[in-house]
Amino acid sequence: MIVDCDRHAAVHRYTDLFPYMTHDWRRHFERDEWLSSVNLGLNHVRVAEQFRHDEPEPYVPSGDEFALVLPHQGLAVNGWADRVAARTFLAALNSYGEDHWASGTSRPVVVVSPHDAQWSATEIRRSAANGKAGGVALPLVPETLGSRTWDPIYAACTEAGLPLVIHYSGVEGNYLGAAALSGGAHGSAFARLTLMPHLAESSIASLTFEGAFARFPELQVLFSGFGFTWLPSLLWRIDREWRTFRHDVPWVTSPPSERVATNMWFTTYPIAEAAARSEWEPGLTDAHRRRLVFGSHAPFGGDTPAEIQGVLDEDWVRGLMANGAALVGAEVGAR
Ligand SMILES: [Zn+2]
Repeated sequence: MIVDCDRHAAVHRYTDLFPYMTHDWRRHFERDEWLSSVNLGLNHVRVAEQFRHDEPEPYVPSGDEFALVLPHQGLAVNGWADRVAARTFLAALNSYGEDHWASGTSRPVVVVSPHDAQWSATEIRRSAANGKAGGVALPLVPETLGSRTWDPIYAACTEAGLPLVIHYSGVEGNYLGAAALSGGAHGSAFARLTLMPHLAESSIASLTFEGAFARFPELQVLFSGFGFTWLPSLLWRIDREWRTFRHDVPWVTSPPSERVATNMWFTTYPIAEAAARSEWEPGLTDAHRRRLVFGSHAPFGGDTPAEIQGVLDEDWVRGLMANGAALVGAEVGAR
């Protein structure tokens, strides 16, 4: 069975969320000031001759595959200045996802607010209690993932047995409030997209050296949409720095690359960058390979299992699906 750990879903019209809001909040989200800012925000990734892009196909759960469903519209709250509105929007979006994107073969990811860790922990527990959630997405802000700021969220994730999902919203390096990209502020949308994997590398270094796994040894983190072929050089670097300076981080008691193999996961998109297998395959142990999972990134021009097989091979595809089943729940592997 196909197990897709990076399937996106979107609310077609903002008014679809209104049944999940109070009357006052509906009025807030209908104001021109808010709608105009959203239109601008949704056109940040691609510069084209047309200002508006076609709506992607709506997500409908299918019995042919298991999907971890990411409501990506929620991720962009990392660029929102109105933090109260962000909570309201996410609460409505998460409830909508439970009603429309959860099925026997799909589980929506709960999107939490990077502006309010306590509210986020409550939201995780609320959603986990109904058994429909498949993970917890934390949008990225300048506070790095190893910070104790996130402890309430990590405590709720481990308590609920849900993986933390890290996926860029696309406003990183562009909007004030979202995480910065390496080196400085890039003016080009294409430069920013090229550099998105840096967010994953930065987060791995922070989680490792700031002791997040010493505090939460059961925490599982899925890096989604960043690719994985950059892992071998990063693993070499973090192990090397740890061996040299481990006295500075006594809470890191084993080579960090071992934590990557026990607490982190990575989706395959974009698989095209993995074509030169000899460049990355020897740098990954079997334990690291078991942490790679199929992620289509659909409907955003994503990869299909056939495309994965074209770049890698049939054994890899089988292995990726088995790995995904291990991540999202053992019962999926038995289907
Ligand atoms: Zn994606």
